[in-house]
Amino acid sequence: MATTAHDDLMALKLRIRAAGLKWTAARGAVLLALSDAERPLSHAELVELVAGQGFNRATVYRNLMDLTGGGLVARADMGDHVWRFEVKAADDPMHPHFMCTLCGVVSCLPETAVSMRTPALKAAVHRVDDVLLKGACAACA
Ligand SMILES: [Zn+2]
Ligand SMILES: [Zn+2]
Repeated sequence: MATTAHDDLMALKLRIRAAGLKWTAARGAVLLALSDAERPLSHAELVELVAGQGFNRATVYRNLMDLTGGGLVARADMGDHVWRFEVKAADDPMHPHFMCTLCGVVSCLPETAVSMRTPALKAAVHRVDDVLLKGACAACA
């Protein structure tokens, strides 16, 4: 079902308040940009996205830290020493990521893209925090 921008904004406000954070325009802009992207974004990418709304690097960084601390956003280093941030849904299962080694873009893959429920894995591993595939994305091929 399609939701309007207004519904999205209301839902974001509720989520931010439920996490014990105060709603601010910058906080909302950062969370909205992240949820629109539907893939993990670096601090630099986010700064570019919200720069037009008048938020600077430091403001974006501070809000990313607050949102991460509040459990609304997940942060991961995909091995290139760049933190990337993505919206963390409460009912969202752990999903694999794909990094294009040519353009550096990281995308989210469906949970079923990589089988992580094999007996061999279960026997050797207690908990998987991240699965990262690397290669060339469709746009770079
Ligand atoms: Zn690429
Ligand atoms: Zn993801």
